[in-house]
Amino acid sequence: MKIIRTIKAMKRFSRDAKKRGKTIGFVPTMGALHNGHLSLARQSKKDCDLTVVSVFVNPTQFGPREDLSKYPRNIRKDKKLLASVNVDVLFFPSVDEIYPGGYSTYVENTGNVAKAMCARFRPGHFKGVATVVTKLFNIVSPDISYFGQKDAQQAIIIKKMVKDLNFDTRIKIMPIVREKDGLAMSSRNVHLSRIDRNKSVGIYRALKKAKELIKKGTKDADLIKKEICRVMDNHGIFIVDYVKIVNAETLEPVKKLRGRTLIAIAAYVGKTRLIDNIVV
Ligand code: AMP
Repeated sequence: MKIIRTIKAMKRFSRDAKKRGKTIGFVPTMGALHNGHLSLARQSKKDCDLTVVSVFVNPTQFGPREDLSKYPRNIRKDKKLLASVNVDVLFFPSVDEIYPGGYSTYVENTGNVAKAMCARFRPGHFKGVATVVTKLFNIVSPDISYFGQKDAQQAIIIKKMVKDLNFDTRIKIMPIVREKDGLAMSSRNVHLSRIDRNKSVGIYRALKKAKELIKKGTKDADLIKKEICRVMDNHGIFIVDYVKIVNAETLEPVKKLRGRTLIAIAAYVGKTRLIDNIVV
């Protein structure tokens, strides 16, 4: 596996690959990799001639009260994991390489999809994400880029950005990879104490309960939300940023379930903010 740390070298690699007629698959990550990330890389390996994974903890997507310095980092382990799935290139730039002094250009979706769900709780977050993803697309020039359904709102915003700004990359959204007990894999799970780890299954159990109710014919969003909150309550999850039942494309709230619907939760388990969702 090639490790590239500069924009210049990354651009040169992609340009040479294109000249040789090779397709490039790209997986942007913030590192502290787990099986969820690797599932994206594996899909890229299947679809494309070359797979590039970036590891970059992006400072512009962290709010002033979010702890950038505490975000888990483990580049040695990341290298091993990426090599184990035969990734071709690890792009691992420094913060100065991506945001040199005087940096001042940002990309922002100003529509409803960027105002829904996490927006109120993480102001500026999606602007930071859209900006870094734009830069990475320009640096890597991928044919296909892979994102996880785990970050459902992010996936929608990126897809919209690619359409609105005419990027030459296709976006593939991959299913959520879970632990055996259902907890969605996340780099942040390492912050959970043993007690909090036990509580955390309440989020997926709440989503499963919602699915059961819907299977039985419940269509009333408020009723489903109530049940979700009850299940989380029973697991000791009391600090809930939101439980949203929204149209899976527009993220507009729905009162009565119809068509593809996203049920999304953001909640604190201990000090760790976890997100999860299902589409029904
Ligand atoms: P992150 O490093 O958390 O920024 O995530 C990088 C990419 O991996 C994003 O597109 C995420 O949606 C995706 N991802 C993170 N966790 C999972 C998971 N459990 N299953 C599938 N994809 C995931």
